[in-house]
Amino acid sequence: MTERVLGFFRSFLLIELIRGMMLTGRHLFKRKITVQYPEEKTPQSPRFKGLHALRRYPNGEERCIACQLCEAVCPALAIHIESEEKRDGTRRTTRYDIDLTKCIFCGFCEESCPVDAIVETRLQEYHGERRGDLIYTKAMLLAVGERYEEQIARDRAADAPYR
Ligand code: SF4
Ligand code: SF4
Repeated sequence: MTERVLGFFRSFLLIELIRGMMLTGRHLFKRKITVQYPEEKTPQSPRFKGLHALRRYPNGEERCIACQLCEAVCPALAIHIESEEKRDGTRRTTRYDIDLTKCIFCGFCEESCPVDAIVETRLQEYHGERRGDLIYTKAMLLAVGERYEEQIARDRAADAPYR
């Protein structure tokens, strides 16, 4: 009963509203922390998990050995791999797709990869306009890797003590 009476007076005297206004007032003249994206950007960790890339060795050879560990570990079933054996006895992928509409950016694929072939870059500014644009094929993933290899290598080196 007492609670109900107190509640009535709190509502009647607009106590909650006054408290809210006081809180607003306390922050009104403080330094603003709104970031004017995309002109301004917040710092990004080298461990940020963005767009995927497939990497090559410095001699141009693909790192991926088609072991399919990344495909097996992916909780979202976002990776699809097909492979074949080459004449020299090595195994290479003939198809490597990642469906980014399924991906949850958990990083399991890059953690499971024994040769550092599939990685997640810092890239977060990409988009698709048509159905299928966000299914990244092997060629697209290799192209991302080629373009950002320098940054990827730097980030992998910085991250090495934590792996
Ligand atoms: S980041 Fe996670 S969900 Fe996305 S492809 Fe890799 S393992 Fe799958
Ligand atoms: S990206 Fe790595 S884990 Fe995935 S198939 Fe290739 S070598 Fe195996």
